[in-house]
Amino acid sequence: MGHRFSRRRFLVLAAAAAAGCAPRGRSAESAPAWKAGLAKVRITPDRPVWMAGYGSRTKPSEGTLHDLYARALALEDATGGRAVLVTADLIGVSASVAKRVTDEVQRRYGLVRDRLMLAFSHTHGGPSVTNLLRVLANPRMTPDQQRDMDDYTRGLVDKVAALVGEALADLRPARLSAGQGEAPFATNRRLKTEKGYVIGVNPDGPTDHTVPVLRVDGADGRLRAVVFLYACHNTTLGGDIYQFHGDYAGFAESALESRHAGATAMFMMGCGGDANPHLRGTLDLARQHGETLAGAVDAVLGGAMRPVPGPLRSAFKTVALPFAPPPAREVLEAQTTDKNQFVQWHAKELLAILDRDGRLPAAYPAPVQVWRLGDQVTLVALGGEVVVDYALRLKRELGADGLWVAAYCNDVFAYVPSRRVLEEGGYEAGGAMIYYGHPGPFAPEVEETLVRRVRELVGQVRER
Ligand SMILES: [Zn+2]
Repeated sequence: MGHRFSRRRFLVLAAAAAAGCAPRGRSAESAPAWKAGLAKVRITPDRPVWMAGYGSRTKPSEGTLHDLYARALALEDATGGRAVLVTADLIGVSASVAKRVTDEVQRRYGLVRDRLMLAFSHTHGGPSVTNLLRVLANPRMTPDQQRDMDDYTRGLVDKVAALVGEALADLRPARLSAGQGEAPFATNRRLKTEKGYVIGVNPDGPTDHTVPVLRVDGADGRLRAVVFLYACHNTTLGGDIYQFHGDYAGFAESALESRHAGATAMFMMGCGGDANPHLRGTLDLARQHGETLAGAVDAVLGGAMRPVPGPLRSAFKTVALPFAPPPAREVLEAQTTDKNQFVQWHAKELLAILDRDGRLPAAYPAPVQVWRLGDQVTLVALGGEVVVDYALRLKRELGADGLWVAAYCNDVFAYVPSRRVLEEGGYEAGGAMIYYGHPGPFAPEVEETLVRRVRELVGQVRER
C-alpha cells in the first residue's frame, strides 16, 4: 500500500530487461492504466427498524424481501492517485452521517474528501437513517425505535469505512471503458391539475432515459465491476411493503451480478427527483424494471466501449443554496397546534432553532463533487433529490458526451428544484421541504447558484 510500483511489478520489469526485451504481448498503450479494487457488504438491518421514504407507513419493518448492500470501487490511476466510489441501497444519508464516514475514511486510509464519493440508490425499501428526513421519520418513532435507528446508523458508518479499506486493499491492474445505453421506464411524475402540480404520471414531461455505463476489467479481460446510472426514483414499490428491498435498482444490481459471476454491479441515481418508474406498485414490476435496466447495461457491455485511460482528477466544494424568506415566528407558533403531526413537529423544530440561534438558516450548504476519468468521463455528483432539468441543462451547456450527472450523493438534504419546477410549485418545489426540516422552499436563484458551482468544478478538473 502506498507504493507507486509494487515490488512484484519491479521484478517483472527487471526480469524482462535482463532478458533483453521489453515486456511484449501488450504494448505500452494497452497495459492496464489503472488499478481497481472491489468490495461488498450486506447492510440489511438485523432487527426491525422504521423504513424510510413513505409517510403512510405505520410500524417498523417486518423482515426482508431482498438484501441491501453497500459496494465500493477503489481506483488508482497511473500517477498513484486514488479514489473510492461507494454505492449503497439506501434512501440516502444526511450531511452529519456522511461526515462521520468521510472523517473515518480519512483517518484510517488518508483518503481526502474529494476522493470519496458516496452514492445512494434512494430505495424506499430501506431503513431510516439518523437525521435524514427527520420530520417524516422521528414523530412516529418511540425512543426505543429511535435508538434502534441510531444503532443501525452507527454500525453502517463502521461497515462503510471498513468497506473502503477492503476495496483499497484489493487494488489490482485494471482497464476502464465507458459507454451509454437507454432504458424507457422513467416517467415524469409532475402532473398539472386544477389544484396545481401533483405527483402522478406525466408522459409529456421531461426525463433523461440515458444509462451511462463504466466497465472495469481485470488485466485478464474478465469483467470485475460495472457502474451504471439512471435518473428515476427508486420507488416501484409503495409504503404498504414492510420488508426490506432495493427496489428496481437492487434487482438490476443482483441481475447483473448473477449474470456476470464475480463482478460487482453498482447503481447510481441520476437527476430523477421528478421521475417515477412507470408502471408501479408490485414486486413483479420492480423486478421487471430491474431486468430492463440490467438489459440496457448488458447491451452496452456487449458493444464497443471507449477505453478510459485516466488520469483521475477530482474536486469537491459545497455551495450555499439560498432559501426563500423564512416564515414569521407567529406563523410557526400557530402551526404548533396544527392537525397534521408533520406540520406540528416541523414548526416546533424551527422554533427551537429560532430560540437557539435567533434566526433560521438562510441557505443550505449543498455538496458538489466532480471526478474526471481521462477525457472520456466527467462525473458530476450532486447532493439532494435533483430534478431532471439540471441533467438536461448541464449536458446542453457542458457537452453531453461523457458527462454523467448523478444526484443523491454525499448528502440527501432536500429536493433541488429547477427555476421552472420552483415556479410551477408542487411537492418537489416546496411541499417536501417540511419533511427535511427546512424553513421553506429554495429561492428562485437556486438553479443558477448550483449550476455556477458545477461549472466552476468541472472547469477545474478539465483544465490541464
Ligand atoms: Zn425522493
